Amino acid sequence: MKSHVKAVVIGGGVVGCSVLYHLARAGWTNVMLIERSELTSGSSWHAAGGFHTLNGDPNVAKLQAYTVQLYKELEEISGQSCSLHLTGGVMLADSPERMDFLRLAHAKGRYLGMDTELITPSEAKKMFPLMDEKHFVGAMWDPVEGHLDPSGTTHAYAKAAKKLGAEIVLRNPVKELTQDPDGTWNVVTEQGTVRAEHVVNCGGLWAREVGRMVGVELPVLAMEHMYLLTEPMPEIEAFNKETGREMIGVLDFKGEIYTRQERNGILLGTYEKACKPWSPVNTPWDFGHELLAPDLDRIAPSLEIGFQHFPGIANAGIKQVINGPFTFAPDGNPLVGPVQGLTNFWVACGVMAGFSQGGGVGLALSNWMVDGDPGFDVWGMDVARWGEWASLRYTNAKVRENYSRRFSIRFPNEELPAARPAQTTPLYDTMVANNAVMGDSWGLETPLWFAPKGTKPKDIVSFHRSNDFEHIGNEVRATRDRVGVTEIANFAKYEVSGLASEDFLNRLMTNRMPKKGRIVLTPMLNEFGRLIGDFTIAKTGDDKFMIWGSSAAQKYHMRWFEQHLPTDGSVRIHRYDQTLVGLSIAGPKSQALLAKLVDVDVSSKAFRFMDFREMAVGGAPCMVNRITYTGDLGYEIWMAPAYQRLVYKAIKEAGEEFGIVDFGMRALLSMRLEKNFPTWFRELRPIYGPFEGSMERFIKLEKNDFIGREAATKEHADGPKLRRVSFYVDAQDADVMGDEPIWAKVGNKDFGTVEKPHGYGAPRFDDTGKEVRGSDAARGASAVRGIVDGDWRVVGWVTSGGYAHYVQKSMAQGYVPAALAENEADGLFEIEILGHRRPARINVEPPFDPSGEKMRG
Ligand SMILES: Cc1cc2nc3c(=O)[nH]c(=O)nc-3n(C[C@H](O)[C@H](O)[C@H](O)COP(=O)(O)OP(=O)(O)OC[C@H]3O[C@@H](n4cnc5c(N)ncnc54)[C@H](O)[C@@H]3O)c2cc1C
Repeated sequence: MKSHVKAVVIGGGVVGCSVLYHLARAGWTNVMLIERSELTSGSSWHAAGGFHTLNGDPNVAKLQAYTVQLYKELEEISGQSCSLHLTGGVMLADSPERMDFLRLAHAKGRYLGMDTELITPSEAKKMFPLMDEKHFVGAMWDPVEGHLDPSGTTHAYAKAAKKLGAEIVLRNPVKELTQDPDGTWNVVTEQGTVRAEHVVNCGGLWAREVGRMVGVELPVLAMEHMYLLTEPMPEIEAFNKETGREMIGVLDFKGEIYTRQERNGILLGTYEKACKPWSPVNTPWDFGHELLAPDLDRIAPSLEIGFQHFPGIANAGIKQVINGPFTFAPDGNPLVGPVQGLTNFWVACGVMAGFSQGGGVGLALSNWMVDGDPGFDVWGMDVARWGEWASLRYTNAKVRENYSRRFSIRFPNEELPAARPAQTTPLYDTMVANNAVMGDSWGLETPLWFAPKGTKPKDIVSFHRSNDFEHIGNEVRATRDRVGVTEIANFAKYEVSGLASEDFLNRLMTNRMPKKGRIVLTPMLNEFGRLIGDFTIAKTGDDKFMIWGSSAAQKYHMRWFEQHLPTDGSVRIHRYDQTLVGLSIAGPKSQALLAKLVDVDVSSKAFRFMDFREMAVGGAPCMVNRITYTGDLGYEIWMAPAYQRLVYKAIKEAGEEFGIVDFGMRALLSMRLEKNFPTWFRELRPIYGPFEGSMERFIKLEKNDFIGREAATKEHADGPKLRRVSFYVDAQDADVMGDEPIWAKVGNKDFGTVEKPHGYGAPRFDDTGKEVRGSDAARGASAVRGIVDGDWRVVGWVTSGGYAHYVQKSMAQGYVPAALAENEADGLFEIEILGHRRPARINVEPPFDPSGEKMRG
């Protein structure tokens, strides 16, 4: 065993072996994997070995597509068979809602280059004759599905990594992790200590315990999972003989069942409602290659439905039931990346579908470690997406909810109840008493909309417009015509201070920093010139700034800020989280309302648009920004939680004469639509450049050197290939949700280079055969490819949208080729909503207050 290496990977399951292989492939060959026992000694050995590409998050879907595509390469390099069976599979819909869900998935697949197809139940039955088609209304066929040998595949990664020079040490538990002042990790094992620059936690079932070695409680939990194997079935043997084909994989949402052929019988697994965590607090170190006791009673309800849906299977004898544990994060997606607050400590764990996702996880993490950037959009699996509230008990409740809902439809307006409330503001009880429908915003209860008194504050979940529509409309109209108040505690807030704070922010941000008492809006870029943040910044003192940003990105942004902080202590950064809360008032009467609450001049002359002031509001010390996301005349008022009730009460009392209303997040998002304002993580993501994102007003290329300036200058000089645009959509009773394809009537005109830059990073090579790495490499790999229907082509994708109530239009934002971005012609675009193509038209100017007159006041 070497004593010094570049990186130690802890854990020899499929994920650890994939990370090791990808690190070695990226050129880090002085790397070592340390395994407690033998390879596959966690959940990898008893997996059912199924793989597929579909995932609710298109970015994770691309990563899964990469994983599947990798297996051939892996077999060739390692000489080890993965026993690949690429059978294809169908998802069966038993209800119109489920069919809508499949239509949505199919539509998303169009711009991801997936070859899915919507088919009838009888077409599905031809591929899987064991089913009874009368239980289903339709199905979706996906050719990129199948199964493999889990152990063979894990060993294939390991062998390939070893061929590239990586070392694998078996039967050697890692006991302790310490870090020297220079950042070097001491990996203390049973066989001695290895010193490493980087450590990767791929501990699978023990990832939590490995995290605890460095003081981190990772939100992962293992669940028991059962699948059964039947005796050989003559129907299957006959089918194979007759067609020369293996039976396909089948996913039955209603029965919460997946099934496929295994030898001459069937493998059938369930995600049962009555699910059971395994080792909820500590994973025993002596657990190894053993299985858990089967519990058929627990999966009986699923089996009952399954046997009705697939009568052929009901008659087969059960040969074996496998029950094994595997880990989940609260949302079912992996935890990948560097852990905020630590240096060079990485995780790749919580991977619940190691054989669909392991390759992509390995690629992303190795890109990140070697190049400083994952190379594609990994937000959906970034470990930074969880806050401190994702405790052991939170994780337990959320993982159980996620597991039991694995095959349930998640509607776009659906808020899930488990582990709530996690965090509340002092106004929580007041908002509930006001009949607010509350939503979860990064662990914080936030009012979404207000139901009329006497009615139940509850969403009717749907893909279509629902019971909130009318009430959100009322909130928007009252705010735009008079004045409204809403909670904004769910924004991220930071204070940056110290002598070098302005230089620090000028280096990180694309816009010039404001003068004292003024505010700017500014994106933040990575070295590749991609958008990694979008902030409101106020200069609050001589060497002091306040920053507001996206709540969900708090750890993501703190990680970046900390990585770039000067080491001499000349800049300090403080994340407030819920120690600072806020209220926003907006609408034409908001200025008169504020004037009643303060003892200073807040006329538009004295307190201008984009000004920042500290003042007492209703008697409470507050920071006030003259800006709101509604795009109207309005204010954001920030205070310590102890004052929030006082300020709210004062606002409501003083606002009575103006007819003030409470409005929720959904009204706020509706109002931002009619101003063409983007949102972080939808319109603005690390896959877009600032000019693509139509953020040019905030990019000052000529100011000092800032991170990403070189790439942004190039993007500007070359001209962006894509542009973020806003559309009016001729929708019926359903608005866009995001990820819908945008069609354009452009005949044969090919916008060849226009590709959705999810960038699933299949390795790419330049003309000399050298691998191209980093974000640019990723951008070429995924495409809006050749989807043509007569003169119509898919040219782009929707990022978000909804109904803009004040201007009474269904609106969408999305990306299209730059050449089309200013073409406001009728009849040029269509947007596919729930499988139906609806006419759409670009609107270059925002429909509400295009000149900004109202906003400036
Ligand atoms: C019944 C069942 C069916 C499944 N079916 C599928 C399927 O069809 N398709 C699919 O994609 N996935 C399936 N899975 C899930 C799949 O098994 C997991 O996604 C995958 O195994 C996760 O791999 P891993 O490498 O993250 O973790 P693990 O396989 O748990 O590996 C972790 C490794 O780390 C080692 N380790 C931990 N701590 C230390 C330490 N301190 N020192 C040294 N070594 C350490 C362990 O010994 C272990 O070998 C199934 C799982 C189960 C249980």
